[in-house]
Amino acid sequence: MNVAYANPSSFIEWTREIKVVDLKFCPLCGEKLVSDQIDGRPRLGCTSETCEYVFWDNPTPVVAAITELEGNVILVRNHGWPEKMFGLVTGFLEKGETPEEGVLREVGEELGLEGRVESFVGYYPFFEMNQLILAFHIKAHGEIVKGEELDQIKLINPEKLRPWPFGTGHAIKDWLETKQAAIHP
Ligand SMILES: [Zn+2]
Repeated sequence: MNVAYANPSSFIEWTREIKVVDLKFCPLCGEKLVSDQIDGRPRLGCTSETCEYVFWDNPTPVVAAITELEGNVILVRNHGWPEKMFGLVTGFLEKGETPEEGVLREVGEELGLEGRVESFVGYYPFFEMNQLILAFHIKAHGEIVKGEELDQIKLINPEKLRPWPFGTGHAIKDWLETKQAAIHP
């Protein structure tokens, strides 16, 4: 049985809708920002002669958890996500936090579970969202308590897990392949 996911193109449409950066004024001095060629790329820069603010739009690191609970993987659906779309628990790092600390905190906040990091699965550029995903395999224990951000949670046997072709789906694919290689070297 395959798990149904929203098709990738509707997902990409959705990321476009939510990712529009509408920065018109400089956050430092309040003057207008205009697009200009800066360091070889079009970027928004401040028009004030005494201000050097540039909106670099650098990617944001995001931690993602392949959370295993008693042999099943936990998938989540956030409020406002497209119909049928499930993904991994993800989140932004807090200031001063290591990725390992951040991912365990997110698992605690969103699922109410304690966990430990089993392995670092890999890093995955997610260009549509301007993010760099850092994915970890987490072994968790406890009773699930759904966090405020989540609409739905489901547990799925790894054998029935089908990676989606964007974002954290690439981490799932690598994790499943590593798992498979360990069983059949
Ligand atoms: Zn400025």
